[in-house]
Amino acid sequence: MSTLRAAGTTDAGQVRGQNQDSFFVRDDLVLIADGMGGYAGGEVAAEIAVDVVASAFASDTTARGLAEAFHDANRRIFERGGEPGLEGMGTTLVGAALVATPAGERLLVANVGDSRGYLLRDGALRQLTEDHSVAAELVRMGRIEEQEEGEHPGRHVLTRALGVEEDVAPDVVELEPRAGDRLLLCSDGLSNELGESELRSLLEVGEPSDAARALVAAANAHGGLDNITAVVADVVTDPTGAASPARESGTSPEPLEAIEAPSGPGGGVALAVAPSAVAVAEARTGTITRVSAPTIGVPIRPVLTAREQRRRRREEYRARRSLNKWVSIRGAVFLLAIAAVLVGAYAVLRWYGTSNYVATVQGRGIIVLQGQTGGFLWWPQKVVYRFDYGQQQIPQLARPALRAGVQEPSRAAAIQYVNGLHAQWKHSVGNERTGSTTSTTYAPYAPQG
Ligand code: MN
Repeated sequence: MSTLRAAGTTDAGQVRGQNQDSFFVRDDLVLIADGMGGYAGGEVAAEIAVDVVASAFASDTTARGLAEAFHDANRRIFERGGEPGLEGMGTTLVGAALVATPAGERLLVANVGDSRGYLLRDGALRQLTEDHSVAAELVRMGRIEEQEEGEHPGRHVLTRALGVEEDVAPDVVELEPRAGDRLLLCSDGLSNELGESELRSLLEVGEPSDAARALVAAANAHGGLDNITAVVADVVTDPTGAASPARESGTSPEPLEAIEAPSGPGGGVALAVAPSAVAVAEARTGTITRVSAPTIGVPIRPVLTAREQRRRRREEYRARRSLNKWVSIRGAVFLLAIAAVLVGAYAVLRWYGTSNYVATVQGRGIIVLQGQTGGFLWWPQKVVYRFDYGQQQIPQLARPALRAGVQEPSRAAAIQYVNGLHAQWKHSVGNERTGSTTSTTYAPYAPQG
């Protein structure tokens, strides 16, 4: 008997104001719904889808029960879509469920819309679901190349969604679960941002909750233009549980339980129900079997009104523009920070290059120089003051120090220092003239400051 060990994470992303994704995890069922339409509608539609399918499947845990649950959810959303404020709401829905069939245990993956299911088995990643978008349908019909899909204007235009029409046909694939299988369900906010190789490498690592968180964080780091949801589920097999009875007995293939779905209105989608014997045999060997009808050849009919399509295009345009704005604001802040650092560095250098003042001699005169000796970068040492008296008009004892240069903190301090020396000299000269007998005394040299 197998169970799912599952964990999910959802995030509004980098540009959307609200999160219209919903998810659900249980040990036999995991779901993701990506709602759309109106201000509140998308959120409501996604919540209804997840709630209805979770409770309906709980009361009938078979393949038929899962298909019925999808139809119940579709009906409920379609009915409530008539309420004011919820007009035109709809949602994608992708689910994976473990069910018992006469042929043994099976893992079913069902989807409507462009939310995806992936299987990681033995290190290989395989996409189990097909997107129900105009672009993806065109690729399947061979009308455009696969590489064009990501840029095609129809990539967000869904051809199937829950709640938009009276009935809906989910795609269903089934496979035999194996211990060690890891499933990923995700909304398009994740698959649009991450390439397949990055998806695989992040999905491989850690517990389901670790992988889900890492995937959502990576999608956010790539831009997070849309709501992002990831559910990661490991298939865990109870070793005491009985193995698949069909495999043990080796009996001839019994038909799988059919999944019946009413066909869509207007001759839309007819479901093939009974898989061929070949498909049953492949399911035994672990091959993935498409239970529902292939979508090739189905007329492409967008489920959204032209008005809703315009609204989504506008929304996307706005999301891109606000992302660009954010990027340019970040760029401007970065440049400002660099400019501030440069201006600060220049101020420090200029302060160092010009803050030094030296009183010294030049020829027979006395001057004050500003700047570092020999100059510094863009600031040469220059004369900022010339005294109107020469070396001979200061005390003889002070002259050697002045010739070597006396540093002062400012131009004024340097002038004041030299003028002080000159005053001492005048004083001593005066004493000589008045015939004073006291020998001339000079104030001892003491640099000021
Ligand atoms: Mn989305």
